[in-house]
Amino acid sequence: MGYRLPDRADMVRVWELKGQRPMKKEVGKGWPEQLRDLWSGEIEWHSPMARWCTLRVGGLARGVATPASLEELQSLLGVLARLDVTWRVIGRGSNLLVSEAGYDGVIVMLGRKFAAIDKLAGGKEVGPRLQVEAGCSLMKLVNWCSAQGLAGLEFAAGIPGSVGGAVVMNAGAWGKEMSEVLSSVTFLGRSGELLKRAKDDLAFTYRHLETEGMVVVAAEFLLQAGDRKAIDKRCGQFLRDRKEKQPRGLASAGSFFKNPPGLPAAGKLIQDAGLKGFRIGGAQVSEVHANFLVNIGSATAQDFLDLMGKVQEKVFERFGIRLEPEVHLL
Ligand SMILES: Cc1cc2nc3c(=O)[nH]c(=O)nc-3n(C[C@H](O)[C@H](O)[C@H](O)COP(=O)(O)OP(=O)(O)OC[C@H]3O[C@@H](n4cnc5c(N)ncnc54)[C@H](O)[C@@H]3O)c2cc1C
Repeated sequence: MGYRLPDRADMVRVWELKGQRPMKKEVGKGWPEQLRDLWSGEIEWHSPMARWCTLRVGGLARGVATPASLEELQSLLGVLARLDVTWRVIGRGSNLLVSEAGYDGVIVMLGRKFAAIDKLAGGKEVGPRLQVEAGCSLMKLVNWCSAQGLAGLEFAAGIPGSVGGAVVMNAGAWGKEMSEVLSSVTFLGRSGELLKRAKDDLAFTYRHLETEGMVVVAAEFLLQAGDRKAIDKRCGQFLRDRKEKQPRGLASAGSFFKNPPGLPAAGKLIQDAGLKGFRIGGAQVSEVHANFLVNIGSATAQDFLDLMGKVQEKVFERFGIRLEPEVHLL
């Protein structure tokens, strides 16, 4: 893979190659037809977002496009810009709540076709480096590292989602987070340019990276050489701890609320507000871990929104603390 950062001239060529000259809207054709004419990648029309989100709720997206390469992604975003169509990039939808109204635009899904893992040459003196495409599943990366004897990412064992999503969310567990193992992130800017930013130039905070509206296309990880068996053991222990502490067999988006800084964890506040097991429609505060809002089978997105509001209200009434959702709302 190895992204070479192109100069502007290269970029213009990429866009022209795809036949994306400035265009007039064609009379009688809606944007979906025009998109279909101009972009040959995979798109599913009128696709239920419940299928793409781990909460298993959400209405229809007009289109869900799955580019299979950086070039396809670049050409897609170019066409969408020219057609003035709203879009949003997602990974595995494990931190997303999409409304019943769905999404009147194109969901761009970076999935398994955008998932290469490359070991980078050099840098031995500081540790092994990997470049990973954003659509790679985080679990696949953790397992790959474990098999290669690369230590550092064990904390991520059991976090569902893509590498791109994990970078944007600055996903973390057991006191560690993605920003600690990254050395740089490569973005695709809104006007089609690739930008590689060193970790020190990125604004990572708790469960957030400021992307300035850009798409994460790849991330570079700086890991340590380690003993395979020991790495495996640590991953196994983290997975067992998750099984013990988190609800199993029910759809969720993991921790629904951010932990308020310097205060008891959100789960503890929700539990102490007496909300464990509290339910609205098919959405419930988990009996196992109060910061997990789970779909007990028949939930709608509205049930989750109502439950979110109720939890915020009760925790505020009881402790004067306003819980902020960690889950992104769409
Ligand atoms: C059972 C369970 C356990 C979980 N445990 C944890 C945990 O321990 N720690 C933790 O931090 N999280 C946890 N999560 C939440 C979630 O898995 C993480 O936040 C994950 O990193 C989200 O990745 P994703 O690919 O699913 O992102 P998505 O949910 O698809 O997207 C999340 C946000 O990132 C944006 N985005 C996604 N990809 C890109 C991209 N390439 N470029 C730009 N923007 C992008 C989306 O637009 C959206 O705003 C858990 C979730 C579940 C269901």
